[in-house]
Amino acid sequence: MGTNRTCRMGRRGFLGACGAAVAGQWLGRASAAEQAAVDHPNIVVFLIDDMGWQDTSLPFWSKPTSFNRHYRTPNMERLARGGIRFTNAHAHPVCSPTRVSIMTGQNPARHHVTNWIFGPDKDTSGNWGPVASPPDWRMEGLQPGDVTLAALLRDAGYHTIHCGKAHWGARGTPGSDPRNLGFDVNIAGHAAGAPGSYQGLDDYGNNDPKRIEWAVPGLDKYHGTDVHLTDALTLEAVQALGAAASTGKPFYLYMAHYAVHVPIQPHGRFHSKYENRNYAGTEYDIPPVEEDYASMIEGMDASLGALLDKLDQLGVAQNTLVIFTSDNGGLSAHARGITPRGTGLNTHNWPLKAGKGSAYEGGTRVPFIAAWAKPDPGSPIQRSLHIRPGSTSDQPVISEDLFPTILGLAHAQDLIPQNHPVDGMDIRPFLGEQDACARARSDKDRPLIVHYPHIWGPKGPGYEPHSSIRMGKWKAVYFYIPQKWELYNLDHDLPEQHDLADSHPKKLRQLAQKLNSAFVEMKVQWPVDRQTKQPLPIPRP
Ligand code: CA
Repeated sequence: MGTNRTCRMGRRGFLGACGAAVAGQWLGRASAAEQAAVDHPNIVVFLIDDMGWQDTSLPFWSKPTSFNRHYRTPNMERLARGGIRFTNAHAHPVCSPTRVSIMTGQNPARHHVTNWIFGPDKDTSGNWGPVASPPDWRMEGLQPGDVTLAALLRDAGYHTIHCGKAHWGARGTPGSDPRNLGFDVNIAGHAAGAPGSYQGLDDYGNNDPKRIEWAVPGLDKYHGTDVHLTDALTLEAVQALGAAASTGKPFYLYMAHYAVHVPIQPHGRFHSKYENRNYAGTEYDIPPVEEDYASMIEGMDASLGALLDKLDQLGVAQNTLVIFTSDNGGLSAHARGITPRGTGLNTHNWPLKAGKGSAYEGGTRVPFIAAWAKPDPGSPIQRSLHIRPGSTSDQPVISEDLFPTILGLAHAQDLIPQNHPVDGMDIRPFLGEQDACARARSDKDRPLIVHYPHIWGPKGPGYEPHSSIRMGKWKAVYFYIPQKWELYNLDHDLPEQHDLADSHPKKLRQLAQKLNSAFVEMKVQWPVDRQTKQPLPIPRP
């Protein structure tokens, strides 16, 4: 198939054609084991909870900041040195919507798990203001029978491991156990979206009857020890990787740390590096909560390093693709202290505005790295998907892209049922540089859609119920309170300080129409007027 014809095809066809050509190159030349690795590489998704775009020593902006000088994440740097980092990666504003999007490939406007889940009939949304949640959003979360990434990978012959925070299905429902959603192994995952405690000495919350719903299950052997939850999960994951390698199957490890979600608590092994110090190069004391937070960041980074080392030790690192990201922007509306810039709440993701739960960039822009666990340009799988070490991409990507991308890597796209629409995009052409379509792979204008028709909790910039669409440099946001549109040019105004809705009405109309048609097709659920219970669709600007 010629390059030109391939590249003129639609996105799905284009990828399918490239993928087939690439896989075919190896038939007949590679050993059976090499061919198996090309067809079914191991996959690790390393997902951090509530980690912000700046919570790392690895800059995702055009220049390093005082945040990057404060945090220590040498293993993220190591991963990025061997792979590609995305500077325009997005998630949804809170936990469960993003996690369900990763599992289904669908936008929250379609899968309807639009807020974080807890009990099957529990609307976790806040109750201030004149707008209430869609009455029938999926409070029960994901359940058996739903199409999931883990189940499709298992069907494709993968050994599937869940480790850490699940938060897909509500308490008391089958979906609360990852083993009912396609995972062969569940380590410490259940309905709750936060741990009772990170400390082994607190039995991870199991010794506190008041918070028993948040107590982390399944780690009893570490109770009463000084093993931090992040380390306990890492030890268990390392063991599970060893067991996976001995199954003879390819594996999928979904490593979803509870860190760095609240409760912000010290990670003992790293805490002293931040204690009683000023932020590097500044006159500002690091407040205790930020000492704790930085130690949690360094702890999760050490976990990444331990897993990379284990993959290497097992001899599978060359055949294992690692994707590192976060499930929403960094927490900044409450429970945080003064920043390295000497500023307060809603500035922890600077230059991005606000944080987790907000419509602004601080709420959804996240770190994102993709890399082979050990770069080896000579290995057959890496010749078929060569990721240039140390590369950077400004291609916009979003959580639901993981589903088609990973299924593509596993050559399992055909297992997606016909009646399961996928909103995410296979981003393999943006990872590699060797496919025939490399030069045609930019798709900067693909729409990124967020739908959060809920009151999250705190008040502040952008924390009202909202929907947004980003295409290229333009981002339009609709706030259901106070029913108003805003428009930003992110190329010129990343901190979203200059609302251009009035000066660029044509651009705003264009984005609003695109968003509305997407919502109609996805059968969106609108928030409602709290008094009249009438739905509140987005209006024409
Ligand atoms: Ca989260």
